Amino acid sequence: MAADCRPGTGYGPLNTVGLFGGTFDPVHHGHLDVARVVRQALSLDEIWFIPARYPPHRSTPAASAAHRFAMVALALAGQTEMKVCDIEMTTDGPSYTIDTLNAIEAIRPALTGRLCFITGADAFRDIVTWRSWTTLLDRAHFAVVSRPGCAAPSLRETLPALAARMHDAPATLSITPGIFLVDAITSAVSSTEARQALSRGAAVNGLLPEPVAEYALRQHLYTGMDAQEAPRG
Ligand code: ATP
Ligand code: MG
Repeated sequence: MAADCRPGTGYGPLNTVGLFGGTFDPVHHGHLDVARVVRQALSLDEIWFIPARYPPHRSTPAASAAHRFAMVALALAGQTEMKVCDIEMTTDGPSYTIDTLNAIEAIRPALTGRLCFITGADAFRDIVTWRSWTTLLDRAHFAVVSRPGCAAPSLRETLPALAARMHDAPATLSITPGIFLVDAITSAVSSTEARQALSRGAAVNGLLPEPVAEYALRQHLYTGMDAQEAPRG
């Protein structure tokens, strides 16, 4: 289901929304685990997956933005609280999170202060390299989920200057934006691993939801790639 973040049609009475940005090249079981555990830990009404057309801080994705968007839509089919949002699909340059926040708040002003960006702990480790990161942390909540090999609570030591803003989940979003650490187990899967498996013609069950695997195979995504591709950001 596509997220109703554009003006026009009936807005539901949403209190809190998790915004899960990523390259999703392709979306995998780890991503779905992240969305599920964050929604539970912070009692969020909805999670919107936001595929980036041009993700900053990394090389060009292997699959087109349209294919990556389609795969997220397939992975979320039938889950009414999980939606795919096209807000970063139309930008010409890199999709910076601060621009996404401004755009969503402009379209849905009632959600101001009720938005929570979701990242894995490996991605949040680099938050100080994000454009306008101090403004971002002052304006929106963050949910940071452990990734195998990078536990969310370890960020208190990695980013000591931000430790005072960090809270252990489960929790309820308060008025002051916080960084919520969700120390849950998610599948030890990466898109890099899935791309490599597909390029070798290896099985991807256990890595990808079935409709996503079928789509990738049918569209010949990731075939003929360098199977030794290094992991991306
Ligand atoms: P790639 O290998 O291409 O970098 P990826 O698996 O890291 O892909 P991304 O699209 O880069 O997936 O990640 C989007 C977000 O999801 C990031 O914040 C990342 O930290 C988080 N994430 C991805 N996989 C997991 C996982 N298994 N557990 C926790 N967080 C994850
Ligand atoms: Mg990554």
